[in-house]
Amino acid sequence: MQSSMITCKDFLRELSDYLDDATDPALRAELEKHINECPNCWVVTDTTRKTIQVYKGMDLHPLPEAVHHKLMNALAQRAAQKQAKSGS
Ligand SMILES: [Zn+2]
Repeated sequence: MQSSMITCKDFLRELSDYLDDATDPALRAELEKHINECPNCWVVTDTTRKTIQVYKGMDLHPLPEAVHHKLMNALAQRAAQKQAKSGS
């Protein structure tokens, strides 16, 4: 019996801890070894990591300041143009 081998079931159970960097180094090494040898778990890890990053990014930056300014400027300009037209 190879005690160092982990199964896909083991891997998926540890996946969220692995992505949170919450696993101990020995287990982390085993999980990384499994990803390298198992395409299915690699895809699951990659997809889950990207999804987490998107959600974290949305939390940190609900609306980037620069985008907000551009939006407000565009609205102000449009309003000014409307006023100029109706004023003539
Ligand atoms: Zn696997």
